[in-house]
Amino acid sequence: MNYIFENVTKNVFVLAVWDSSWNSYNNCYFIVEDHGVTVIDSGKLQHAKYIEEALYSIGKSVEDVVLFIATHGHEDHVQSAALFTKAKKFIHPNEKNMIEYPEPEQFHYELPDQGIFRDFDCQLVGYHTPGSVIFYHRPTQVLFTGDFLCFFGDPLSADGIVSEGNELREAWLDYLKEGGVPKEQLPAFLEGLKTIQPFDSIAICTGHGGVLVGESKEFVTELLKVGNSLLLF
Ligand SMILES: [Zn+2]
Ligand SMILES: [Zn+2]
Repeated sequence: MNYIFENVTKNVFVLAVWDSSWNSYNNCYFIVEDHGVTVIDSGKLQHAKYIEEALYSIGKSVEDVVLFIATHGHEDHVQSAALFTKAKKFIHPNEKNMIEYPEPEQFHYELPDQGIFRDFDCQLVGYHTPGSVIFYHRPTQVLFTGDFLCFFGDPLSADGIVSEGNELREAWLDYLKEGGVPKEQLPAFLEGLKTIQPFDSIAICTGHGGVLVGESKEFVTELLKVGNSLLLF
């Protein structure tokens, strides 16, 4: 199977494309609204055909995409944005010098460090890349974390890609306990967690692999607790 395409909630969809060269799923997300489709992250260039197929399967096309926002500028999050010729494309200004996109002038480098952008709360998290942001979509209460919080290379939950994913949560906590976040980057990671803790989301849409449903605040709080205990050593 090349990809999984599923609902996260009524009008939010996840497209997770299997990338055998990276041994990971690469995720992108569609929010379908009356005024058009918003796409968050886009996959690599070679994933473009799956985006077209997935949009087609819900009666949409790349022409319907009016807004593209990237959590950060790595190739697996921006390259297929070239498909969306009708969309305005946004990314945080800190990504300007590192965006892995052939025509960087197509992007508006205007996302706020912290504040409202369209229907989203946008929050700079300062971990993974200098301009990595998370988006909280107010109308649907869905949180998009990009690679700040993701399951790169991890297997999906036995309950499916969109699920509580308790084993994934446990695995992330273990990874953190075992020093998966390098010590010098830990303070920035914890600061990022603190800024996303207030968002009471119904689902955490990550940059790679599992989408976690429910208990998002509890999970972030648990990560903070473990992370803070590591700082003591
Ligand atoms: Zn990345
Ligand atoms: Zn990524």
